[in-house]
Amino acid sequence: MSEDCIFCRIVAGEIPSRTVYEDDTVFAFLDANPLAPGHTLVIPKAHHERLNDLPADLAHDVLDRLYQLVPQVERAVDADGTTVAFNNGPAAGQEVQHVHGHIVPRFENDGGGPIHAIAGQQPDLDDNELDEIAERIAQSE
Ligand code: 5GP
Ligand code: ZN
Repeated sequence: MSEDCIFCRIVAGEIPSRTVYEDDTVFAFLDANPLAPGHTLVIPKAHHERLNDLPADLAHDVLDRLYQLVPQVERAVDADGTTVAFNNGPAAGQEVQHVHGHIVPRFENDGGGPIHAIAGQQPDLDDNELDEIAERIAQSE
């Protein structure tokens, strides 16, 4: 546990939360500042800052639970869909440095945008650059 981490303190019960799921490794609760009714956060109980820092077994636990919770959340608030995302690192807008997946219920004509709306300016990449990037990703395993 990290003493100065708000999500660790929620897991420890020091800060109250509206818990929707808990097991040995995973915790899920309603976002305190919801973007939509049912906005849910899914976290590992252990403190890890980014997805990249998560041990594989914990990553599986978190993603499995995210998968289970998506239809539960949709049913609970009668949503038409969900946006599911991790703000992974401060550059991506992560404000709480304890890895968490967002499940944001979406409704027809809710005025929100697609995940593409996160891009500031879209890059203009030619075929060679795209080939090179794909190659670098494939090789950096
Ligand atoms: P981030 O921007 O780091 O991806 O998202 C952090 C989320 O945590 C925000 O949506 C914010 O509303 C939520 N949050 C921050 N502090 C608390 C808290 O004390 N309790 C709950 N339930 N959610 C919180
Ligand atoms: Zn933490």
